[in-house]
Amino acid sequence: MEGIIIKGIGGFYYVRTDAGVLECKARGIFRKNKETPMVGDYVTVVATPEGNTVDKIHQRKTELVRPFVANVSQAYVVFAMHNPDINHDLLHKFVLSLEASGITPVLVFNKTDLATEEEREALVEEFVGTSYRIYFIEAKEKKGLEPLLEQLSGEITVLCGPSGAGKSTLLNKLSGVEQMETGAISVKLNRGKHTTRHSELIEVHGALLVDTPGFSNMDFSLDPLELKNLFPEFAPYAGECRFLGCNHDKEPDCRIKSEVGKSISPMRYEFYVKTYHELLEEKKRKW
Ligand code: GDP
Repeated sequence: MEGIIIKGIGGFYYVRTDAGVLECKARGIFRKNKETPMVGDYVTVVATPEGNTVDKIHQRKTELVRPFVANVSQAYVVFAMHNPDINHDLLHKFVLSLEASGITPVLVFNKTDLATEEEREALVEEFVGTSYRIYFIEAKEKKGLEPLLEQLSGEITVLCGPSGAGKSTLLNKLSGVEQMETGAISVKLNRGKHTTRHSELIEVHGALLVDTPGFSNMDFSLDPLELKNLFPEFAPYAGECRFLGCNHDKEPDCRIKSEVGKSISPMRYEFYVKTYHELLEEKKRKW
């Protein structure tokens, strides 16, 4: 039987299958091969005399370390419009590290009650040409959440963003915890901040959401020459610079530079150049 691991506790894996959630042990061979099943893994489960067993782990599409979850396909990057104010550098770093992990960023700006229409428009401008989806919400009042619920479908989604942005509020509202009578999930979601525990996948409208926020530490290591491939707004101009392999920095007749302020936002371009130089420095240090 095929399924997905939604939880792992004390050597047991809980696998969601068409027949419901099955409690499984992992095959001994995994330990020998130093292969560990992860929450998010698509697996084959077989029934053995000892009980249900995870028999095969299907190849992972993505692998997040913090939280330790496989096959996350999209991330809601949650930033508050104010309180705390947007740290744009951090915002672009989140987006970049998701691109580097092969996870689709979806931009969610919360606390729209604290912002003006002009501020919203400026954010849309900041991501011109990227084709990232951008949503403005007021999580506390459950405003603007419908498209986010729809967007969950068919994906494993993680929420990430800085502290205070409203991730827990959004997770609670999306999972509808407040309407639940039993309070079972509510207890789980509102657990103390300092308890170490493994992440779980929770089911929201038939889709799966990681119950702990995504990485706040973005130590990604990248080849500086690869960086430009992680900016989707550069893609339409591929091969149009004077130099093949142009890094859109100081090279003359650079098509990307000519688009800055038009179809590429100055803020994103500056972030690109800054990061490019940081990565170059890092590469030099390692040599
Ligand atoms: P997290 O650290 O990202 O998980 O953020 P929280 O969910 O704990 O929210 C931080 C604070 O922002 C809390 O006091 C929330 O009540 C508040 N908050 C959440 N959503 C909104 C909103 O839409 N508008 C306003 N003004 N405050 C909000």
